[in-house]
Amino acid sequence: GVQYPQNFISKIIAERTDPNGPVTMRFPPEPNGFLHLGHAKSICVNFGLNEQFNEDNVMRTNVRMDDTNPLKESPFYVDSITKDTRWLIGKDAFPSKIMSTSSYFDEIYGCAVSLIENSLAFVDDLSPDEMRELRGTLTSPGQNSPNRDRPVEDSLRLFQEMTKGEHPTGSLTLRAKIDMSSPNLNLRDPVIYRILVGATHHNTGDKWNVYPMYDFSHPISDAIEGITHSLCTLEFEDHRVLYDWVLDSLAQKCGKEFPSRPRQIEFSRLNLKYTVLSKRKLIQLVEQNHVEGWDDPRLPTLSGVRRRGFQPLALKTFCSRIGVSKTDSNIDFAELENVARETMDKTARRAFVVTSPLKVTITNYDSQNKEEFIIPRHPKDESFGERTVPFGKEIYIEESDFFDGENPPKGFKRLVAGGKVRLRNAYVITCEEVVRDENNKPIELLCTYDDRTGNGVTPEGEKRVQGIVQWVEATTSVSCDVAQYDRLFKAEAPGSSTGDFLDDINPDSVSIISGARCEPSVEADCLQHLETVEESQDADVYHGDLHYQFERQGYYALDSSSSREKLVFNRVVTLRDTWGG
Ligand code: ATP
Ligand code: MG
Ligand code: MG
Repeated sequence: GVQYPQNFISKIIAERTDPNGPVTMRFPPEPNGFLHLGHAKSICVNFGLNEQFNEDNVMRTNVRMDDTNPLKESPFYVDSITKDTRWLIGKDAFPSKIMSTSSYFDEIYGCAVSLIENSLAFVDDLSPDEMRELRGTLTSPGQNSPNRDRPVEDSLRLFQEMTKGEHPTGSLTLRAKIDMSSPNLNLRDPVIYRILVGATHHNTGDKWNVYPMYDFSHPISDAIEGITHSLCTLEFEDHRVLYDWVLDSLAQKCGKEFPSRPRQIEFSRLNLKYTVLSKRKLIQLVEQNHVEGWDDPRLPTLSGVRRRGFQPLALKTFCSRIGVSKTDSNIDFAELENVARETMDKTARRAFVVTSPLKVTITNYDSQNKEEFIIPRHPKDESFGERTVPFGKEIYIEESDFFDGENPPKGFKRLVAGGKVRLRNAYVITCEEVVRDENNKPIELLCTYDDRTGNGVTPEGEKRVQGIVQWVEATTSVSCDVAQYDRLFKAEAPGSSTGDFLDDINPDSVSIISGARCEPSVEADCLQHLETVEESQDADVYHGDLHYQFERQGYYALDSSSSREKLVFNRVVTLRDTWGG
C-alpha cells in the first residue's frame, strides 16, 4: 500500500496510554451531498493511520453516516458515499457494515434524559433571536435563560412531549446547562436537541420528532463505537471542550459507561486551487446544470475524478504527499495531476491513437500485404504482455505531425514534404507528395517506405531518423471520441473577486474530439471491459479502471458513456505539466 509519513496525529497516537492497544477511528460523512477530494484526505488519514497502528492487520476504521438532519439527507447520498468510499479504500479494506448515527438515536436520547435528570440540561422556549441576544459575544459574557432553573420534572415532561410531537418545530429546544460566562461561546448552554415535526428520516422513518445536534450526537456515537481517536477538521477545535464536557458529564455525573473515551484531534482541511470543495457549492453546480451531473469528469467529487480516470492509488499517493498538519494548505490541482502522471506511467497500457487523422498512402507498399507488428503493451513492464498492431498501405498519422510549408518551427523533427519520419515500432517513411483539397489544405500524403526499417530498425551505417510519430492502419483502426478537460474555474480562488464562485466558471472547460482513431487492440480491450462492467454485480469494476497512455498524447481512461458502438475516452492528464509556472 501507500506509505504515510509520520505526522502530529501519529505522534499523539503513538503516545497513547496503552501503546499496544487497538486504534479505532471513523470517517463520519453527513449524507447530504457527494464526497469530494477533501473527504478523500479525511478517508486516507483515518484509514492510513489505522493501517499504520493496527499491526494485526485488522481494519478498525468505521464508516459512519452522520445522519441527524432528515431535512437534508437521503439514501441517494448514503449510496453514493458508500460506493465512493469503497472505491477509494478498496473492497478488501472496506468495512462490511456501514454505521449510522441514527442507529444510536435511542441511546443518545437516553443520554439527554440523564442530563436533564442530573440538572445538566433544560428545556428552553427562547426563539433563536432571543437566544443569540442572551448568548453574548466573545468580549461580553452571556446571560442565563429565564428557563435555566426550570424544575427537572418540568423539563422531563416537556422533552417527552417534544418527542411525541406535541410541540411545533422550533418552539422548544433542549439545552445543556454549562456556563453562560465561558469565554468559549460553544459552552454557553448550547442546544443539544431540536424539534423537527413531520420530517421523515431515511432510517428511522417517523419515529422521532426530536433530533440531536452534532456536538451532542458525535461524541456519544464515537464512544458507543469504541472510537479511540476522533479526527475532524480545524473548525471544530473550539468545539472540543464541548465534546469533552458531554463525555465527562455522562461518565462522571450520569453513570454512563461506554466502550471508550475517545479523543478529538483536529487537522487542517484540504483546499484546492481552481476548484471548489464544499458540498453546498457542488450541489449548486450540479442542480443548476453548470456541469452534467455528480460524476462530471471536471468535478472534484470522487465520482467525478473516478469517471475522469484518476485511480485510487493516485489519490492515496497525493494524500500521503500533502501530509497532515494544523496549517491551512491551498494546493494546486496540478499537484494531483502530477501524482496521477507518475502512478499511471506504471499502471497504464500503451496504445496508438490519432485524434485528428491525416491519411497517408504508402505508394510502394503492397495493398495485399497483411503485416502485423507485435508491440509490448508497456515499455518497462513485461507483465502487461503484447498487442498486435496491423500495418498496411493506408494509414493515419496525427495532422499536427505534418508541417505544411518551407520553414518548420525550430526543433520540429516530424514530417515535412520531402522529409522522413519514423512510424513508431514500424517503418521509416518519406513524404513524396502532398494531395490538397480546393482550399489548398493537405488531405493526404503520398509516401514511400523503406522496407529495411521495420520494427524500429535503423540499417547499419545509416543515420537514425529523429522524428517518431504514432500511427494507425486505416481499415482496421476504430473511430472513437476523446474528451479533453481544462480547469472548471478560471480563478485560483473561485469567487474571490465578485463574491460569487459561479462568476469564475471557465466556459471552455471541455472539448470533445470526435472521429479520433484508435488501434484495434484498444477496441478489443474496451469491448471486453464493457462486458466486465456490465456483469459486475457488486459494482467494483468501473469504466475508468481501463486506462491508457495514448502514446505522445496523454493518459486516457474509458468513459462511462461508452457503448459497443461508440467508445469515449477521457483525458485524465497530459503527458507533461502544461500549466507552466
Ligand atoms: P462540506 O464543507 O463540503 O459540506 P463537511 O465537513 O460538512 O464538508 P462532512 O460530511 O461532515 O462534510 O465530512 C465528513 C468528514 O470529512 C469530516 O470528518 C470532515 O472534517 C472531513 N472533511 C470534509 N471536508 C474536508 C476537507 N476539505 N479536507 C479534509 N477533510 C474534510
Ligand atoms: Mg459536517
Ligand atoms: Mg457541511
